[in-house]
Amino acid sequence: MSTALTLDQLPVREELRGKSPYGAPQLDVPVRLNTNENPYPLPEPLVARIAERVAEAARGLNRYPDRDAVELRTELARYLTRTGGHPVAFEQVWAANGSNEVLQQLLQAFGGPGRTALGFEPSYSMHSLIARGTNTGWISGPRREDFTIDVEAAREAVAEHRPDVVFITSPNNPTGTAVDRETVLALHDAAQAVKPTMVVVDEAYVEFSHGASLLPLLEGRPHLVVSRTMSKAFGAAGLRLGYLAADPAVVDALQLVRLPYHLSAVNQATALAALEHTDTLLGYVDRLKAERDRVVQELRALGLDVTDSDANFVQFGRFDGPGGQHAVWQRLLDHGVLVRDNGVPGRLRVSTGTPEENTAFLEAVREVVGSTPDTDPERPGGEDRQKDKEQKV
Ligand SMILES: *Cc1c(COP(=O)(O)O)cnc(C)c1O
Repeated sequence: MSTALTLDQLPVREELRGKSPYGAPQLDVPVRLNTNENPYPLPEPLVARIAERVAEAARGLNRYPDRDAVELRTELARYLTRTGGHPVAFEQVWAANGSNEVLQQLLQAFGGPGRTALGFEPSYSMHSLIARGTNTGWISGPRREDFTIDVEAAREAVAEHRPDVVFITSPNNPTGTAVDRETVLALHDAAQAVKPTMVVVDEAYVEFSHGASLLPLLEGRPHLVVSRTMSKAFGAAGLRLGYLAADPAVVDALQLVRLPYHLSAVNQATALAALEHTDTLLGYVDRLKAERDRVVQELRALGLDVTDSDANFVQFGRFDGPGGQHAVWQRLLDHGVLVRDNGVPGRLRVSTGTPEENTAFLEAVREVVGSTPDTDPERPGGEDRQKDKEQKV
C-alpha cells in the first residue's frame, strides 16, 4: 500500500486528533532499563510447566475459553489472600489482558462521555491515555515538590472537579514512592463525601514495596478497587495478565463492558502455570529489592537527588543543565544504557536490572555526571574515563 494518507485525513474522533500513542522507545542496546520489566527470564521448570499447561489448553482450542476465568480468578484470590494481609474471595477478583485492560474496563463502566477521572501527576501515563480512549475527561491533580500527595490540595481538587473515578498509583510510577494508608483513606472519604466515586489504587509494583498492600482497605468500601499485574513482580510482561480486587458488585459491572471470551485459554493456562511458581518468582523480587536499594544508595553517593523508591525502578536527577534531563538521557544511551525520560523536568527513571546491568548503569552515570558541565566543570580526566567506558559497554 502506498497511499500518502495521513492520520489527519481520516475521520477519527475529535479528541484523538493530533495525539500520539503510548511509546516507550524499544531500542536494541546492551542495557535496557526503561520499561520496568523484570530482568530475569522465567525459570526453566516454569517454562516447561507453561508448555505442559498450554498443550493441555491447545487440545480444547476449538471451544471458547472459560468466559469467567474461574480457575484463574480462584488462584489469584488465593495469592492475594496469602500475600496481601486480607482474605480475598474469587468473586472479588477480575482478570484481563494486562492491568491496562482492567483499567480500561473500569473506565468503560464508570467513566465515559460526560464523566471525568482524576489522577495525581506525574503518574502512570496510561491512566490519562485510557481516559482519552474511553472518552472520559481527564483532570490532572497536584503533587508536592517531593512528589508526595498533599491531602488538603487533593481534597480541594476532588471537591472542585467532582470526578467519577480517582486514580492513586502506589507505589507511584515514575516517581517510585508508595502512598500511605492514611492518605488513601482520606482521599477515598473526601471523594465519597462529594458523590459515589470509584477510587482505583494501582498497585502494579506493590510486591517491591517496603510497606504493606492496601488490600485490607477493601473491607467495607465498595467503591475502592485495587489493581495488580503479573507484568512486574511475576516477571511476565509478555504474558499480558492483570487483575483487580474489589467488591463483587464491581466485578459484575465490568462484565457489562468486557468483550466475551476476552481472556484466551492460552493466557489463562500460562498465568495458572506461573502462579504455581509464585515462591520462586517472589524470590527474584527480593533480589531486585536489594539491587534497587543499592542503586538508590550509589546514586545518592554521587550527589544525585533520588526519590524514595518502593518499586523496581528509581527516579533520579536533577539535570537542569542545557538540554535538561533529555540531554543526560541521550548521553546515557551513547554509553549503551537506555533509561526513561518520562518528561518530569530534571529527572530520569531507571528500572532495576541484573546486578551487572545496574553496575553498567551506575558506571555510565558516573561518566556522564562527571563530565556534565553544570555538575562538575573542573573534574579532571573526564574524557579519558569516557573512552575506557565506551570499550567496556
Ligand atoms: C507497568 C504498569 C502497569 C502494568 O500494566 P500491564 O498492562 O499489566 O502490563 C500498570 N500500572 C502501572 C502504574 C504500571 O507502571
